[in-house]
Amino acid sequence: MKKNTIDPLKPIVALCKRRGFVYPGSEIYGGFANTYSYGPYGVEIKNNIKNLWWNFFVRSRSDMVGIDGPILLHPLTWKASGHIEGFSDALIDCKECKARFRVDKLIEDQTNQDVEGLSLEDLTDIMIKKDISCPKCKSKNFTKARHFNLMFKTEMSKTDAEHSTAYLRPETAQAIFLDYKNVVDTMRVKIPFGIAQIGKAFRNEITPGNFIFRLIEFDQMEIEYFVEQNTWQEHFEKWLDEMKKFCSMIGLDSNKLKEAEHPKEKLSHYSKRTIDITYDFPFGTNELYGLAYRTNFDLCQHQKHSKVSLEYIDNVNNKRFIPHVIEPTFGLDRTILALLCDAYDEEKLENGETRTVMHFSKNIAPVKVAIFPLMKKPDLIKEARNIFDSLKIKYATEYDEAGAIGKRYRRQDELGTPYCITVDYQTLEDQTVTIRERDSMKQERIKIENIKSTLLNYFEES
Ligand code: ATP
Repeated sequence: MKKNTIDPLKPIVALCKRRGFVYPGSEIYGGFANTYSYGPYGVEIKNNIKNLWWNFFVRSRSDMVGIDGPILLHPLTWKASGHIEGFSDALIDCKECKARFRVDKLIEDQTNQDVEGLSLEDLTDIMIKKDISCPKCKSKNFTKARHFNLMFKTEMSKTDAEHSTAYLRPETAQAIFLDYKNVVDTMRVKIPFGIAQIGKAFRNEITPGNFIFRLIEFDQMEIEYFVEQNTWQEHFEKWLDEMKKFCSMIGLDSNKLKEAEHPKEKLSHYSKRTIDITYDFPFGTNELYGLAYRTNFDLCQHQKHSKVSLEYIDNVNNKRFIPHVIEPTFGLDRTILALLCDAYDEEKLENGETRTVMHFSKNIAPVKVAIFPLMKKPDLIKEARNIFDSLKIKYATEYDEAGAIGKRYRRQDELGTPYCITVDYQTLEDQTVTIRERDSMKQERIKIENIKSTLLNYFEES
């Protein structure tokens, strides 16, 4: 199912650059692999998703609180969590062209054999027996497979030699576990409750491209939901439903979303049950979000290594226990990629032309309304600017007077702007404007005094 080719994404990648959604990282230096920068419209989409997520999962619930923890955590965190020991990929180098690959992906791509969980020796053997060749130079001359830890290391200017190496967090989850005790002590939360966080995570991954699908620096939106052990199954099911509600809220195409249960033998070291929500990306069906039952593994490990009690005290029922954890996790960059793929459309028009349009849902669109004077004439400009000023506080609004009106509409179509308002000569006579809807391209005339209420109706419909 997985096809590692960038081609199906090409038009989307090109539009992202052309319209300021996503730029390649460090481009003037020739780029920096697997890093990207969100441009002016990309950052608007990113903030829209973050805000919708935070409102839905934190603000609108009485059993959730949020934090913003550090990227650099005490180095013992990663010993306790198992990341120093086990967070690695098996890699192999081509001795001829020096390219480096993930062994499992290389074997899977050339033989369709699933090799997850096999030892380094077994992987090296399969490489030879199955005659695997280098995708870059076709040579079969490889090093042995070896483990490569995915955490980025950095040096601290400390004298304490044992702790001078720090790691950029490879998941936001651990920052939540380290703050669990502070939240319980200060926030009057009662189990079941959850802690949410949005923030950066870093993984030194070998990636096959696919634009912003797999990055070395990415944003996660994560929840650790603390429950009593015997209730984990009911909470797991509830969270799966909540995750699906979020997918529909941001307008993801439900036909492209599926659930994939991890078989027992493939579960991570901390998990007793994991379901991925996958999305049919143009390059194949891949993980978008994950839902894991992490047991009380992490809190037990942190209690052991920190020697601080992380027991929850239930005074009402006179019980003490280390809570179990349900973890819904959402990749922000993958959300953006899925939304870009869903939204992108090249439409054949009746007049034979093709228009490129982004069908973002209204709550995701980076610009909500664009205002144009039909021509660059002072009277029209003045009226259009007045309308722009009256809307810009409430809506992400753009004013544009440059070029032919048709071109201005096309530009907004490529940005996914739901409504364009045009001030023309009739406006000066009867105080009406045209309002054009992105998807149908239908225009209607409305009174200037009704613009706000009309927009309010339209945006509430979504
Ligand atoms: P994969 O199997 O694709 O490597 P994972 O199972 O390692 O992903 P998790 O550790 O469950 O991923 O991370 C939670 C979420 O973070 C994922 O569902 C995904 O949306 C996002 N994510 C993980 N790794 C990356 C990455 N390298 N770039 C962008 N997003 C990522």
